[in-house]
Amino acid sequence: MKLLYMSAIIAASAAVAGCKSVEMMDQISSADLQQKNHKNALLEKSTNKHGVESFESLTVNDYREAIVRGIEEQKAELQAIIKNPEAPTFENTVAALDQSGKALDRASSTFYPLTSSNSTAEYRDLSKEVQPLLSAHSDDIFMNDELFQRVKKVYDDASSAELTHEQQKVLEKIYKQFERNGANLNDADKEKLRELNQKISGLQLQFSNNLLHETNNTFVTVDNVKDLEGLSEADIQRAAAMAKEQGQEGKYMFNMQRASCNPVLQYCKNRELRRQVYNAYCNRGNAGNEYDNKAICAELVQLRLDRARLMGFKNCASQILDTRMAKTPEAVYNLLDQIWTPAVAKANEELADIREEMKKDGLDCEPEGWDYRYYLERARTNKFQFDERELSEYLEINNVLKGVFYTANRLYGVTFKDVTAELPAYDATANAWEVYDRDSTLLAVFYSDYYPRDGKRAGAWCTSFRGQSYEDGKRVEPVVVNVCSMTPPSADRPALQTVDNVTTMFHEFGHALHAFMRDVHYENVSSVERDFVELPSQINEHWAFEPEVLDVYAKHYKTGAALPKALLDKYEACSQYGQGFATVEYLAASLVDMDLHVLESIPENFNVMSYEEQKLAERGIPRQIQPRYRVTNFSHTMGGGYTAGYYSYIWAEVLDADGFEAFKETGDIFNQEVAGKFRRYVLTPGGIDDGMTMYRNFRGSEPKIDALLKNRGLK
Ligand SMILES: [Zn+2]
Repeated sequence: MKLLYMSAIIAASAAVAGCKSVEMMDQISSADLQQKNHKNALLEKSTNKHGVESFESLTVNDYREAIVRGIEEQKAELQAIIKNPEAPTFENTVAALDQSGKALDRASSTFYPLTSSNSTAEYRDLSKEVQPLLSAHSDDIFMNDELFQRVKKVYDDASSAELTHEQQKVLEKIYKQFERNGANLNDADKEKLRELNQKISGLQLQFSNNLLHETNNTFVTVDNVKDLEGLSEADIQRAAAMAKEQGQEGKYMFNMQRASCNPVLQYCKNRELRRQVYNAYCNRGNAGNEYDNKAICAELVQLRLDRARLMGFKNCASQILDTRMAKTPEAVYNLLDQIWTPAVAKANEELADIREEMKKDGLDCEPEGWDYRYYLERARTNKFQFDERELSEYLEINNVLKGVFYTANRLYGVTFKDVTAELPAYDATANAWEVYDRDSTLLAVFYSDYYPRDGKRAGAWCTSFRGQSYEDGKRVEPVVVNVCSMTPPSADRPALQTVDNVTTMFHEFGHALHAFMRDVHYENVSSVERDFVELPSQINEHWAFEPEVLDVYAKHYKTGAALPKALLDKYEACSQYGQGFATVEYLAASLVDMDLHVLESIPENFNVMSYEEQKLAERGIPRQIQPRYRVTNFSHTMGGGYTAGYYSYIWAEVLDADGFEAFKETGDIFNQEVAGKFRRYVLTPGGIDDGMTMYRNFRGSEPKIDALLKNRGLK
């Protein structure tokens, strides 16, 4: 029963489409006749090596059929649990529920990764079509009182049952999932909960649609190219193309997509243009027009509070954090406050540099928000003279992958064998690997898919076509994939990567290692808390630019020479510069996200923008820095997904920085005792323990923030 995955899919797409399969069946064409001889590979046991799916033979109809049948099959399994005449036990109820829905898991785990990496209009239509079916199916499970009463009986009697540690956690997770869906409420309150959920998701969607409109359709227009001094030729051409598209040929336009407006803020000399762009960007959703989000945000805050109250919590943040590693709002504030003071001090130091740079331009006034990025960039260039393109010549993608594999091998003894020619591929450009453990048993199958193409979503991620499980007592290896959009090779150069791209490869591979090494017996303990997820990935980034690892992979693409130490030193010094600004703008947004969701009553005519300004002013934010997102364009918190959760990024960074210290303290970044503990206590147990317990088991104590402050140059 992979319900967490299903609810994530449901949240990801809110549009609803009707079911088309009925009309399509009437029309018999040659394609349908061919279809008659076509076997749906998802409905049969795979005969491929390692049971990998036959991606190349699967059609959209196959996916539809497998998902619909999977739902039916799970319904029958649930009925069998409910109708079981025997008294509820862990085995006949909780384990049976956990193990139900395997066919549906198989179909969705194969289909959904492709909707991000190989998306077509047909795939998108199908995901819209099945989303309401999956949503209703999830409701059918969690709102089924007969099923809940059986689970509750096992939960209430658990103390007398002899359950393993893992089984206790499975029981607790399943019970709490029912509870969160309102299973313990009376009928009237259940109805209230359903209404609140509906209103909240409707408003979140409206918020996101408004924001999308404002981001794409708020323009700043420039008549004359001489007003664009400092922008690159490519940026100017893009601005000209956007103006042409908008019927303003000969002019230059910028919208509020970061790729369009960031270069202006960072490189454009024209102060007035920077001011216009900056104000337009910060005020998306706050322009008083029909796309204004202020009232929506205020209503969302109120409804989320109402929902938390209904479920017995004092505020929304307490409800959400109850199932997170942080546990309480106090723990989140405690962390954010400790970083805030040194970050603000650092930002004020950077402001001194900015004032110096402004003087060179004859500006004697105080810096404003629209001066920050521009003059900070200039100060950085003057201070360090670092050109990233020079470093990139040492970062060819196949070499970097050698570094990624080398690190995993030195830490955990795993080895990799290229089996691209032997396994079905979901795309011709992806490579397949067998991953062997130290004792030569097969641990996992890994696909690396690194280049951009049409139909691949922007960004980078790690997902699985099959999660680790046990079948008849035997471990089934996971099939894991890393999807990225790295710089491809060009006519005269191999695929040379930026520092960011290299970091991303190590990051996503850290997620992959977590998936390779997981070893659990129940589906419901395969996932970890949201604020723990990024620990395995972020810690893996720390090895990317360690001299010992660079020695292995960073070779000049023409000469094969090793990376010069002076260039590496320059990069390291440069990378810490600007962390005052970056940390303050991030923390400000995280604090506002918390401040809104710890409220225990909402004032009449609540104005979210004044509230944000007031709270940040009380904390002494430098007036030149706005939160990374202001409330009316803060989709992480207002669009759902990261509500009372934007802190998670820095929470995980505390863990990864402190965790890497455990290696460094021994004087050996590949220390086998520490690596063994990390594998045993963090990578292997899935969600059998709470994140903090796992971390303590690994480190011997709770994480300290010192390493993070040092890495960001704040200490
Ligand atoms: Zn990640």
